[in-house]
Amino acid sequence: MRVPLLDLKAQLAPLREEILEAVTEVVDSTCYIMGPHIERFEEHVAAYCGTRFALGVSSGTDALLIALTALGIGPGDLVITTPFTFFATMGSILRLGARPLFADIDPVTYNLDPARMEELLARPDLSGRVKAVLPVHLYGQCADMGRIGALAERYRLPVIEDAAQAIGAAHPRPGAGGAMWRRAGSMGLAGCFSFFPSKNLGGIGDGGMVVTDDERLIQKLRILRVHGSEPKYYHKLVGGNFRLDALQAAVLDRKLSHLPAWHKARRRNAEFYDRLFADSGLVAAGKIVLPAAVYRDEATREKIEPDYHIYNQYVIRAADRDRLRAFLTRHGIGTEIYYPVPLHRQECVAGLGYEGLSLPRAEKAAAETLALPIYPELTDAMQHEVVDRIVAFYREASS
Ligand SMILES: *Cc1c(COP(=O)(O)O)cnc(C)c1O
Repeated sequence: MRVPLLDLKAQLAPLREEILEAVTEVVDSTCYIMGPHIERFEEHVAAYCGTRFALGVSSGTDALLIALTALGIGPGDLVITTPFTFFATMGSILRLGARPLFADIDPVTYNLDPARMEELLARPDLSGRVKAVLPVHLYGQCADMGRIGALAERYRLPVIEDAAQAIGAAHPRPGAGGAMWRRAGSMGLAGCFSFFPSKNLGGIGDGGMVVTDDERLIQKLRILRVHGSEPKYYHKLVGGNFRLDALQAAVLDRKLSHLPAWHKARRRNAEFYDRLFADSGLVAAGKIVLPAAVYRDEATREKIEPDYHIYNQYVIRAADRDRLRAFLTRHGIGTEIYYPVPLHRQECVAGLGYEGLSLPRAEKAAAETLALPIYPELTDAMQHEVVDRIVAFYREASS
């Protein structure tokens, strides 16, 4: 049985009519740039995330770029972030002439470790240059926003959340008061989302969103989205064309109503894998380490079902990872490595002073992790197939 890493056709089949309806609506409206489809989708995303404002933009990458631009990040500035993430997190910092200041990751969640962040902030040679913190909610689980937020507050630094993989992911009570759980993107000054087709909420092309509660920031972002002009042809700032396409907004707005069910299905699949792998003996034998859902117990205790992890990816650590991956590929099982090279080791930053930098946890994660198929439409039989093949690999390897 073939098991692809992701099967967008399986998602499309039951939605095809609905999506074509949305496309037809935009085509017939001739409102292709900005307009009511964008505004409606922005309102719905803000409500879903629990923020006052949302701004549709051209991609997740541009969401990060426009947010950092609005903060005035530029040459000479440092932005604390994680070395274990998609390139765009670092790319947005570098494109503004600033430099990423890497805090190594927590080995359990793979997210930025607040203890490492604290060490960096305590360094007198750096602290004056640090202008922002950019944590990533990797694989669909929020970074430790309680501790990250408290540190950022102590050092008066804005936090921009790279929530590209985590729309809707919940975090228990960061800080005092307010709602019991907060959603990704609503805990920092701003949150950035991507609607790349492989994200939990994916468009039929590129798209992104910035959410915030801050009125001044949203005004600035709105202007930056259209070349810094307000009114038209009077340019207050140097912005760019960062607009979300009306077609994408209309399609995404339809898909948004399905998102809670998709999150639930991914979580169910993750729990099923957890059980199958535990029964397989591979965990006890030390061959694999399962992904940890660190906020799950709290949810269980409170007898509620928030999206404590949205499993954009289900990532295991595996002994002999590369040979396991080759074996699975040969047997028709799709996997991926997110990400094989930590950012401080990328060729494009050679010569920027990261050569001597050692971030052992990120380097180890890059060498050991493997993402397995986890999409909502995955069947029990397919999950059995994935687990059975992994069991077979280690049995063969040890015989
Ligand atoms: C997908 C992703 C992005 C970029 O989003 P695009 O829409 O592809 O530009 C940024 N950061 C992270 C962590 C991502 O996973």
